[in-house]
Amino acid sequence: MKLPHLVVSDRDGNIFEIPELSMAGMSLNAPTLPTEQELIPLPYGSDLYLLPERTAVGYDPRRKEFVEVKEYHGEPVFAAAAFMAPAYVQVYRSAFATPAGAPRLSLYSYTAVGWKNGQFYAAGKRIDPDLRQDLSTFNLNLVEQEARRMLRRYPQNRLTGHLIRNCVFRYGCPAARNFALGRWECPIPTSPGCNAACVGCISEQPAETGVRSTQDRLDFMPSVEEIVEFTVPHLKNAPRAVVSFGQGCEGEPLLAGPVIKEAIKEIRRCTDRGIININTNASRPAAVEELCKAGLDSIRVSLNSAQKGYYEAYYRPRHYTFEDVLESLRIMRRYNRWASINYFVFPGFTDHPAEVSALERLIGEVKINMIQARNLNIDPEWYIEELGLKELAASNGKAAAKPIGILAWIERISQKFPWIKWGYFNPPREEMQAGHYGWEGIRKPTL
Ligand code: SF4
Repeated sequence: MKLPHLVVSDRDGNIFEIPELSMAGMSLNAPTLPTEQELIPLPYGSDLYLLPERTAVGYDPRRKEFVEVKEYHGEPVFAAAAFMAPAYVQVYRSAFATPAGAPRLSLYSYTAVGWKNGQFYAAGKRIDPDLRQDLSTFNLNLVEQEARRMLRRYPQNRLTGHLIRNCVFRYGCPAARNFALGRWECPIPTSPGCNAACVGCISEQPAETGVRSTQDRLDFMPSVEEIVEFTVPHLKNAPRAVVSFGQGCEGEPLLAGPVIKEAIKEIRRCTDRGIININTNASRPAAVEELCKAGLDSIRVSLNSAQKGYYEAYYRPRHYTFEDVLESLRIMRRYNRWASINYFVFPGFTDHPAEVSALERLIGEVKINMIQARNLNIDPEWYIEELGLKELAASNGKAAAKPIGILAWIERISQKFPWIKWGYFNPPREEMQAGHYGWEGIRKPTL
């Protein structure tokens, strides 16, 4: 198969192909040639980025070697990458070299991209067929209209005010847009504070990192009444209804545990329709147990690694441990509630034999129901540096330690744990069929 051409950018962000060279991908920090199976047409709704001061790495099919490209036809060129649309997982990140002193990249994922037969190709895979965040499903005029109607409907509610004015109008958040449209998954941010200090935190970045957080963190804790006021109508009326605590625009929801517990109890007093979910760092097992008793249906626990050392190097937990995170997952399964991990995919690390084995141990022991495979949004070289992954890369020479490839990783986990559901989004009740995914079905909560 003829690989797509290398794609680069000029200094002004004009992206174009270099027909003499083929695209390459990066597995950890080893340039790699994608296979046909590892390439898809760039999904609608994806963005293309110029990577400031990064030198593009392509493949010269005549010299059969990877080459750095600093100029083309006498003009300076720079590396480019794709930020894929939601529901797609990255197979290779963009191949580039970084000169000393280059600014850190913003908190996005940088997927390898090429050009062929008149279109862009990305090294990725659709991991969730659910359309809830497909840009093609949003009529932006209708979103605007319905969002204004929500503001009139809940004039005193600070939380719906935040979701509409901040998340819909300022950030164009697909989850908040779905709330405005009264469909699918509705976000419920609750916590201004967090008990972790993730390297790539998207809602709070210390100035010294030189990177801006992509969302400002919520600065108030809503009341039970404010939460219940809009979530009950959503659960009662929305198709494939899910309401989710724990969003990108807040800290850690378990720090608002008592409020969330009372809100869940009140919601379930009003309706038993839909799914009540929490996206969390799962740092407080006791709080998770209280939420299970109140009626929580599902949890999504964010994890960059199933290895304690790499987990703690990224999350930098304050007053909790990796063991607490595992215990929260066990509690959910003890209460027969749905347990997903929000597993940050980083090509070359996620599919590294040591990480694959650690994840297999976790799945085997905890019996989670689902892996939501999401791309880690961070400057890849910053991540490699912070987690000390260079050693891992150095041992790549030895066959035993070679990354197996993201597609092979998905295949291997599916074969070994056939019940595992793969995806990107929190499933609605309609997708939680009892008897599938190691799942016995929803049971009434012990109020
Ligand atoms: S758990 Fe979430 S809010 Fe807390 S530091 Fe990490 S990314 Fe930020």
